[in-house]
Formats: sequence, structure tokens, C-alpha cells
Amino acid sequence: MNEFNKWFSVTRIDEHISLIHENHIASWMRCNIWHIRGRHRDLLIDSGMGLVPLKPFVSRFSDQSVTAISSHGHFDHMGGAHEFEHHWGHPGDSNIYANPTGCNTLADDFVSAEVIKTDPFDGFDIAEYRVKPAPLTGYLDDGDIIDLGDRILHVLHLPGHSPGSIALYDPAEKTLFSGDIIYDGGLIDDAYHSSTEIYEESLRRLRELPVSVVHGGHEGSFGQSRMIELIDLFLAGGQRLGWTK
Ligand SMILES: [Zn+2]
Repeated sequence: MNEFNKWFSVTRIDEHISLIHENHIASWMRCNIWHIRGRHRDLLIDSGMGLVPLKPFVSRFSDQSVTAISSHGHFDHMGGAHEFEHHWGHPGDSNIYANPTGCNTLADDFVSAEVIKTDPFDGFDIAEYRVKPAPLTGYLDDGDIIDLGDRILHVLHLPGHSPGSIALYDPAEKTLFSGDIIYDGGLIDDAYHSSTEIYEESLRRLRELPVSVVHGGHEGSFGQSRMIELIDLFLAGGQRLGWTK
């Protein structure tokens, strides 16, 4: 851990997958940044809050082209996307990527001194925190396939948390990168552009997916039985963060 710099740390999950964390973001808010090494190119799924440049950190262990994919357009997932030449995501959140504000990225609702526990640089002023625009350079939609040469990822469009929320699924390994659609914590279905009904539809669809491991947008990874348990809790009216102000 913490091999290259103090802001980020990287944990190797297996031969292909690494997890990057922002060390000084409160654990309940901290996004999981997933790096997938492919034969032809690497993928970065989500990019954190954008407080410190992420690309130089990634380039320390990735020596080929990296495509940044945003699971959705919230500040904690897309903050570093502007650093990457290739930024892919779903058109449902494309206006947020192109024109991020404190309001449409949810930064106004969540960013506080409790979240950013250490100043990322000298002179940092939390009141001036903004996500930089990162217009999509490629659109992803349900059914699209991303071929990394030695591994294929399928795009699942699973709206409800936000209109453009996507997950990536590797059917060979039965690995799901789920963004904020599902993780092992309170889910958010009451943001300004959320829809509980649509969220439930997405989770019913996810419930049928054969998975061995779910790498979520927050918190620790888990297997199929926990995924089904979390979905059933949500469908029964629980497992929600309920943060609306
Ligand atoms: Zn989110």
C-alpha cells in the first residue's frame, strides 16, 4: 500500500485487476477506482474526486494506453476523468460530464471537511472544490462490448441511481464492476435525477446475473449471495442511505 505517493494507494486484487483509493477521503465516501490491465489497453473504471492528478499515479504501474470509463456522473467517480484522452460513459449522464456543477454532480450535498480529511495541496480551499469538465469521447450503451484483447467486458445500462449509470461485466470470470448501482452499503435512490422505480427494475435484472464477485463503486467486494441479499433488502424498502436534505 501507499507505494508511490501519499494521496493514492493501490492494492493488487489479481493479475489483471487493481484497486486504487484516495487515502484521505472518508471511507464511507471514498470511491473505488478500478484498474484493469488488458493485452491491448488498460481500463480505469472511475477516477475519484479529482483533488490530486491521478494519471501520473496510474502511469507508475500501467505502461500502455488507459481508457477512463465513468460508471456515472457524480463528483466522487468522475473527478479525474478530464486527465485522460479517452473518456467513455453513458449518454444519459453526458451533460454532467461536459458541464459539471456542484449541484448536478452531488458535490454540494456531500463535500465537507469531514469528507476531505487532509488538504490535498497547500492553499486548498474546500469552498472552491469543483469537478473539471470531462466531455465523453465515446458513448457506451447496454450491450456494447469492450475488448481488451485477453478479456471482454459487456456494458450493462442500469439506471436508477442516475440516468446514465452503467456496470461492466466480464462473463468469462463472472466479475461485475457495478459502480453505484450496487455496493455493500446504503444505496442512493433519492438524488435529484434518481428514480426508485427504475432502480428497482435495474436491480431485478442484476439479480439474475451469474456473478462470482462484485467490485462496487464503494466499500468492499462481495459474491453472488450477498448481491442477492442486498438487492432483496432494497426491493423490500431497505438498504437505502436516505440522505435527501
Ligand atoms: Zn453516485
